[in-house]
Amino acid sequence: MDLAGKPMNVIDAEMAAALAGLVEALESDASITGLILASGKKDFFAGADVDHLWEIDTAEQAFEESMHFKSWLRRLEQAGKPVVAAIHGRCLGGGLEIALACHHRIVLDDGKARLGLPEVKLGLLPGGGGTQRLPRLVGMQQALQWMSEGTEVRAAQALSSGLVHALAKTPEDMLAQARAWIAAHPKPQQPWDAPKFRYPGGDSRSPAIAQLLAIGPSMASAKSWGNYPALTHIMSSVFEGGLVDFDNALAIESRYFAACVVSPESRNLIGTLWYQLNAIKKGASRPSGPAPSKVKKLGILGAGMMGAGIAYVSAKAGIEVVLLDTTQANADKGKAYSQALLDKAVKKGGRTAEQRDATLARITPTTDYAALKDCQLVIEAVFEDRAVKAEVTKLAEAQLSAKAVFASNTSTLPITGLAQASERPANFIGLHFFSPVDKMPLVEIIVGEQTSDETLAKGFDFVQQIGQTPIVVNDSRGFYTSRVFATYVMEGLAMLKEGVHPRSIEVAGLQAGMPMPPLALQDEVSLSLGVHVADQTRKDLAAEGKPYEAHPGEAVLRQLCEIGRIGKKAGQGFYDWPAEGERGEKRLWPGLKEMFPVAAEQPTQEQMIERLLYAQANEAARCLEEGVLRSVADGNVGSILGWGFAPFFGGALQFINTVGPAHFVARSRELAAAHGKRFKPAKLVIELAKKGELLEVGGPASA
Ligand code: NAD
Repeated sequence: MDLAGKPMNVIDAEMAAALAGLVEALESDASITGLILASGKKDFFAGADVDHLWEIDTAEQAFEESMHFKSWLRRLEQAGKPVVAAIHGRCLGGGLEIALACHHRIVLDDGKARLGLPEVKLGLLPGGGGTQRLPRLVGMQQALQWMSEGTEVRAAQALSSGLVHALAKTPEDMLAQARAWIAAHPKPQQPWDAPKFRYPGGDSRSPAIAQLLAIGPSMASAKSWGNYPALTHIMSSVFEGGLVDFDNALAIESRYFAACVVSPESRNLIGTLWYQLNAIKKGASRPSGPAPSKVKKLGILGAGMMGAGIAYVSAKAGIEVVLLDTTQANADKGKAYSQALLDKAVKKGGRTAEQRDATLARITPTTDYAALKDCQLVIEAVFEDRAVKAEVTKLAEAQLSAKAVFASNTSTLPITGLAQASERPANFIGLHFFSPVDKMPLVEIIVGEQTSDETLAKGFDFVQQIGQTPIVVNDSRGFYTSRVFATYVMEGLAMLKEGVHPRSIEVAGLQAGMPMPPLALQDEVSLSLGVHVADQTRKDLAAEGKPYEAHPGEAVLRQLCEIGRIGKKAGQGFYDWPAEGERGEKRLWPGLKEMFPVAAEQPTQEQMIERLLYAQANEAARCLEEGVLRSVADGNVGSILGWGFAPFFGGALQFINTVGPAHFVARSRELAAAHGKRFKPAKLVIELAKKGELLEVGGPASA
């Protein structure tokens, strides 16, 4: 299998036709004794052709196409001749479904093999027989776990679980094994076609599985709050498929597949996390003029939480890192962070001791600015204080070549202002990382008034060099991510002030699809930080002669801070937190009831969910309208990767498309009348609603 002109094998029209041709030959040509399916590419198979899936717009079409494709796989396994899959590299989705229709599977054990059915990540279920063949091979429980998490397994586990039959050391060995198997098994039969077939570990009727499937949907909903229909469709397909014969099971699967393909959740996930994300990765937000660049040597100023994290991801990507702090002890502590993470990786077997040592050797902790010589990029992550930042900017620039870029990891201070400390503001940029850096995949690049295209391109290339995803925004208070994220948390606080029960607020946050509820989140980031940012903003706006309007949630922050409840780090905020090392869960502080008496009349959960989501979507739309956001893709991808905005809505801007701009405007006006003018719809959305248009949706054209 080697699709012309494509980097990966996928199930497109050409592949489907080739497969059909093979099946016909296998059935009719007596001189063919067997078939080996192997790949001419670096991987075995990527999966379905997303571009084609995207074009399907009716459930009927999805059903027919899935049935049609499977009919060929069925003929492949019932042609009466041996078919072997010789798998190397990735074998995912539809590719694994083809392999599952082979009689024998061999995997090249070179450390690169990954087998799995990741469809759920795009809101889909495996519609090529995966939900039927996989459980019949490895058991329902294992299959459900893999399919609902989109797990990719490595060679050893594929063998031990029964997913594949053999491993091979070399490609030649793999082909020799395949030929030998064909010679030894002229008349193979799939296990599910044998008259006495039994599911390993029990089927839908066995007590253990019935119990599992009875609690499965509620367990899935406990995490997903019913926001991901693909999860329950996968379970239904497996369970119902286990009650009927194999061919009817395949038809049941296609019905659930069709339901997923046309679901808004899947369209949103594919539009944003496939098309828009791929467009970003291909450089849609990067100026095209400047040549590609690489950082060989990086300077980091401040070896605290952020500096240490940036040092780790950069050294891991092969970059020499100078990690500078005010004392050698601080700088060493920053490097120790990498040591701890790498030691853990070695212990787990993800890395060898030599690899760890080589990565660590790239980090030089120091207090000496002269060590920054030859750095192509310096990132400052010192205290969030203009004066301190200005001082280190000057000291670092004195050591740098004229072409070097200076970046600030500030979370709140406008970049244009910070650049005033620089001798060459055109080389000054914001690279806003998220904490913890090694887990958070996003970097928000902030373009100051004087930042050049060359500098932006270099920043963009660096973010990709360390394997992170860049979004590009223009300078503004709170940039994009902090500004919109804050509206979520503050809306939760405003509800508390109005007398909404705190538990209901927290549950509404999770039901809305956010990874953490608002009050707990504010405890994590600290209430005092919230007050500090508000004070700073008030001061800055006064200096600019602009009015400041406090969000109603701000008073809540101040009330708690006044009595020392400043958040998790103090062990008390909206919650009482267990002390470090102490067992037990955080619990809502009982005193909240006295401070914010619970009103007799409570809003519905649906109303609260709406407020939490509309607040964010509207602020994101304002960012687009004001030119803080430069593209819809950056807005959507940034919201999901940056602060976990409900992915099934496709991001904070795609939310507006999902509910429809006209509805969004009407509902926003009602919310504004009830709760304050912060809900007044952004002009940009009003315009869209008038014209009957949508914000740009990710699709084949955007990638
Ligand atoms: P931190 O307090 O953990 O670390 C700051 C480090 O800078 C300390 O090690 C300190 O010794 C060092 N430092 C202070 N003055 C210095 C100087 N003159 N020269 C060299 N080193 C100096 O803070 P952090 O959380 O790592 O934050 C650093 C920056 O990153 C801040 O601007 C912050 O706003 C920003 N940021 C933080 C987060 C977060 O979640 N913590 C997220 C994004 C951005």
